[in-house]
Amino acid sequence: MKIKFVFAALVAVAMAGVAQEGPDASKSKAATAKPAPAVTYIKAGKLFDSTSDSYRENVVIVVEGERIKAVEPTAQAQIPAGAKVVDLSKATVLPGLIDCHTHLGSRADRYNPINAFKETPFTHAFAAEKNAKITLLAGFTTVRDVGSGPFMAVDLRNSIDSGYIPGPRVVASGPGISITGGHGDLNNYSPETSVTLFPAERNYQIADGADQVRHVVRAQVKYGVDVIKILATGGVLSKGDSPGAPQFTYEELKVAADEAHMAGRKIAAHAHGAEGIKNSILAGIDSIEHASLATDEDIALAKQHGTYFDMDIYNDDYLLGKAIEFGLPQENIDKEKMVGQAQRETFQRAVKAGVKMAFGTDAGVYPHGDNARQFATMVKYGMTPAQAIRTATQNSADLIGRSKDVGTIETGKYADIIAVEGDPLQDVTVLQSVGFVMKGGTVYKDKLAGTAVAE
Ligand SMILES: [Zn+2]
Repeated sequence: MKIKFVFAALVAVAMAGVAQEGPDASKSKAATAKPAPAVTYIKAGKLFDSTSDSYRENVVIVVEGERIKAVEPTAQAQIPAGAKVVDLSKATVLPGLIDCHTHLGSRADRYNPINAFKETPFTHAFAAEKNAKITLLAGFTTVRDVGSGPFMAVDLRNSIDSGYIPGPRVVASGPGISITGGHGDLNNYSPETSVTLFPAERNYQIADGADQVRHVVRAQVKYGVDVIKILATGGVLSKGDSPGAPQFTYEELKVAADEAHMAGRKIAAHAHGAEGIKNSILAGIDSIEHASLATDEDIALAKQHGTYFDMDIYNDDYLLGKAIEFGLPQENIDKEKMVGQAQRETFQRAVKAGVKMAFGTDAGVYPHGDNARQFATMVKYGMTPAQAIRTATQNSADLIGRSKDVGTIETGKYADIIAVEGDPLQDVTVLQSVGFVMKGGTVYKDKLAGTAVAE
């Protein structure tokens, strides 16, 4: 009886709820609904939307909430009285820039090898918080972070996405996967030395043979990475290996690429030497990082397979300058001398051949926030300014698989918008002083706009 009574009471309550859905219900719902997203009107004098190589003049970008609602000629735009207006009519407006090769947790003043033994995961996390903000304020609203301790970049991405700290959108990798003794290993010290908190079987980094590679890729996916980074040749800033020499076999790289793709992830391969580049392309890897010593055959293969080259051609200036003052060991100086200039010449050949080019700088090797310095080097080695800017917008968005959200200024995309004084298609170095930064409709920096209320 008692149970029946309770049931009847519940039915009565439920019925009362239904009864309330009368004509008044919509009114009370509207009162509790979220307020309409804020609308901002950005007046752009010159707009490089990155869908072509030229400017559109005098347009209004309508931003609703996080996204672009419309892009229309100023003459047609209807800006309601009292609306929020960002006046960039004297500036050049562009899409937020994308850097596909950063290490936000790394500092460019730590070249003495002793630092490997002094730094903790927290050292890198603190650096990442600071560098994320610097990078965003330099106009880079999206970065791919390709190589940090497990799983700092994932935590950084989540902290930024939740609005806890400012920073660019982060496409996060785990540690760069390396062979034993490879670019990602700690080589030529006492075998009793280790710098990781993790036991060897759980470092998410060192893998030998197809099965271990498969396991590490899966483990990284398990902890939330967006992209896999694998080290297919030796490197410049490691000890005891050669940048030209392949690391991992074709079979190992193929397993890594297949596993990444099966999990819906892209995969980037660090590769300086020709054989490692070739193996990576044939394995189906999405981008070749560095690509320093690519031969004509590698270039032809990259074109044929639609593989991106992501070439960090600015940082040679820093490595052979300031980095030496910060204790860069002779072995690394020698290796940089071997690949730095060669890489710039390879870049020129690859651009001429029409290889797809992303924008990646290896920020962290040089100071974060200087990312845009690379544009001038790209122009010096064969690109037009428009081509160079498009690598850091439309092309990079394509490489990271986010063309629906970022990379151009078009209806429906995130309102990731920057502005500069001057004419970047004449002088690409003006991108080194970005004066206005909006990410997802929120203004993070404004030294240019006369933000005002329309009358
Ligand atoms: Zn790197």
